[in-house]
Parts: sequence; structure tokens; C-alpha cells
Amino acid sequence: MKKTKLAAISMPVAAAIAVVVYLFGFYHGQTNEGPAVLSNANASVASPVNAVEDRDVYYPGSEDLGKDEMRVIACGTGMPNARPKQAAACFLVELGNGDKFIFDIGTGSAERLSAMLIPYDYLDKVFIGHLHADHFGDLDALWVGGVLANRQRPLRVWGPSGSEEKYGIKYAVEHMKEMFSWDFASRQGNVNTVGFKIEVTEFDYRAVNKVIYEKNGVTIRTIPAIHALDGPVSFILDWNGLKFAFSSDTFPNKWWMKHTTGADLAIHESFIAPNDLVNLQKWAVEDALNVGTQVHTSPAQFGKVMSEINPRMAVAYHFFNDHNTIEGALRLIRKTYDGPLSMATDYMVWNITKDEITTRMAVVDEDIWPLPSITEKLPADPKDKIGFSDFIYGGRVPYQDVVNKVYEDTNKTFGTDVPTPK
Ligand SMILES: [Zn+2]
Ligand SMILES: [Zn+2]
Repeated sequence: MKKTKLAAISMPVAAAIAVVVYLFGFYHGQTNEGPAVLSNANASVASPVNAVEDRDVYYPGSEDLGKDEMRVIACGTGMPNARPKQAAACFLVELGNGDKFIFDIGTGSAERLSAMLIPYDYLDKVFIGHLHADHFGDLDALWVGGVLANRQRPLRVWGPSGSEEKYGIKYAVEHMKEMFSWDFASRQGNVNTVGFKIEVTEFDYRAVNKVIYEKNGVTIRTIPAIHALDGPVSFILDWNGLKFAFSSDTFPNKWWMKHTTGADLAIHESFIAPNDLVNLQKWAVEDALNVGTQVHTSPAQFGKVMSEINPRMAVAYHFFNDHNTIEGALRLIRKTYDGPLSMATDYMVWNITKDEITTRMAVVDEDIWPLPSITEKLPADPKDKIGFSDFIYGGRVPYQDVVNKVYEDTNKTFGTDVPTPK
């Protein structure tokens, strides 16, 4: 968690400044010329001109990740109805060995991923727990966004089979590509389309603690989840003695209890409490109870789950985390669990080492652009271009003089010689 952009200050200098500040505060206080500076003030905090050293926030792109450290960022913690404050399920796991993994990519979450200032080249591994839109609805945005940002490697997607072929991840991705037939065709010859490739690994949703990924010291396992229909799974990532567990969506189940016990970070759904579904969303009581406690895990059940697996940090997500819901949810969880707990909301960040887990919020820059790729941008191949019909082409108003000038000026700026299209 090394902060690279903060001014370095050596300990003896800091101590000397602290003494000066203390003395200043002492005499200043005595002479009654204004408010006294606290005698125990941190030198950096007390200064009217220096940066505050211990800012308790995460600015994406501003910190090195320690080689033994795991950083997890909530890029979606809400519901199928994405909203400005919370996208749907998505957690980014970054490891000190350089690997990055995305767990679920729910509606609205690609925007949060982009705010993390990571070149798309590194955002190429996605693990999808089940095929509800709030868990994979932004796969297209990551996929096509990655193509335009010059990701020159395939997007790799891991996900479960279903009880029938059409309920599995392979079917879903193949048909997503079908859905984007026009998108793909329209970009051929205009941008390089190498990144359009998707490699799908479909595994048996019934597999228990089976390794589905193993590389570079990272092992990812799958366990069955119980949610709505056969097919959902939960994931467990092990690396460097640290264990990350992600439920996606599930009713409390025996596989989770057995295989996530003692996890360093255990992220489990804790759905909107039944009362809130009735009061705030006008659900019928019957539906609120069924969906809130049978299809999903309610806050009270979540507390029970965590009290059994005893993680170093329990993370509740999958609810609208607002001033009028948080207290009720917490009260229900605390009836059954009194351990370390984060009530997740978007942009919450956990830094995890063997010694310490810190929880902070990220502060993002809404004006960010996609980070330049780590590889040189490949040009489009004009031979791939499909082009227009005579009918549509015949409707163009070319403003040839204006375009000629744009080409001329741009070529001059960049020292190039790109011919104006005829
Ligand atoms: Zn679901
Ligand atoms: Zn869900």
C-alpha cells in the first residue's frame, strides 16, 4: 500500500517539526492569540501548507501494491436495478504478483472498473458466478471497451454449465456475440478487431472445490451455490497464503461453510431485508419473504453464515446501502454475528496482507479516459471493411474541402502522409 505521490519526510525531520509545532502550540496557547495547535498533532496534519500524509482514501493509480498484498475493490454491490450510487455485482481482485481477476461483471460495473485506471490489457480474466444480468450484464461493455482500448489478447471468461446447454456460460457468450453481430461487422476495417476474441471455460456447476484456474501461484476453485435455478456457483481464490471467497448469489449452503472457513476476505450476499422490500419497493409480503430469505440470503442469515466461517473480514453486499436501510440490516446481522464486518458499497477498497486488513473508500475522477494500452495500438485492416450499400453511400454530403483541410492539418501536426479518401 505504498503511496507513491505523497511527499516523503524522514523520521528525524518529522520529529523535529513535531517538537516545533508542540512548542508553538504551547506558547501560542499561553499568549491567548488564537486557538492552540494540539500538542499531539501529526506534523503533516498540523501544517497549513503540506499535504496530509495519512489520507484515509484510495486514489486509483496512486499506490504501489506490495508483493505480498491483495487489493480488492468493490466495483458493483447493488441490485439488478443499477443506480448512480451502486452498480450491480462486481469485485476486482488485484494481487502483488501482477495478476488481476474480475468476479462477476453486473450491470453498470464496467464504468467502475474503468475508474480504477487500469489498462484494459490487464482486465482480461472474468469469473462469472451465474447468469443473472446483475452478475454479467456489463460483459459486453468490458469486451467491446477492451477492443477499442487495444486489448490485443482474448477476453477470457470462466463460468458454470447449466442443467441444459442453453443455461450455460458458453451458450450465453456465443449468443452475446450473435447479439453484437452488427457491432462487430461495423468495426471491421475501422478499428483493429483482434480483441474481439473471447475464450470461454465452462465448468460443471456441480463441481465441489474443483480447481478451475491455476497459474502463477494463484488457484481458483468453484463450489456450487443455491440460487433460483441449478447453475450458480461461488468462487474461492487462494494466493500467497491469502484466501478470497466470493459467493456471487446463494442461499446459505454446506459447501460455502466447509470451503471458505477462515477466509481472509469473505464476500457473501446479504439481500435487502424483507421489511425494506415491502416498505420501500412495495413488494407483496409473500414475495419479499420468498425472494429475501429463500432465493437469496437475508441479513440475519448472512450473520449466521459468517459466525460459522469466521473470516478475517466479512463483506455484505447485494443491497441498497442507504441511510434508511443500513441500520436495520446491521441490527439483523449483529443478532447472529459480532466479528469484523464491511457493509459494502461501490468503491470500497480492502488491502489485505497476512498482518493487516484495511478498509477504505476509493475517490474516483469522473473525467478519466481509458488508460493507454501497454502494447502499441494495431491499425485496422481496411481489407476487412464491409462498407455501405450504394443507396446509403449515395446519401453522403462529403464537404470535401473541409475534410481535405482536416487531413492536411493533422498530417502536418503529426508529420504523417495519410491520403484523403476519394
Ligand atoms: Zn442472481
Ligand atoms: Zn444478484
